[in-house]
Amino acid sequence: MKKRNSQDAKAKAKKKKSYGAKRPKFCKFCVERLNTIDYKDVKTLSSFTPERGKVMPRRTSGVCARHQRTLVVAIKRARNIALLPFTTD
Ligand SMILES: [Zn+2]
Repeated sequence: MKKRNSQDAKAKAKKKKSYGAKRPKFCKFCVERLNTIDYKDVKTLSSFTPERGKVMPRRTSGVCARHQRTLVVAIKRARNIALLPFTTD
């Protein structure tokens, strides 16, 4: 039986899936016109490391490709001198 409920389809299309809590669509570092990301700036770096201590993916944080690369290096440096955790248990 082919019966399509158009209202149902509309409701489905309208409903947007939300991944994660916040997702700004701009690169924070581009806005601040930063070329380098300080690895000693724990406050900034920790905002890009969710609970597990991993690096937040670009699709979630909204950081651009260029700054994501510098951010990852900064986070790795910070981990190495124990400013950030490698992992949390
Ligand atoms: Zn950027």
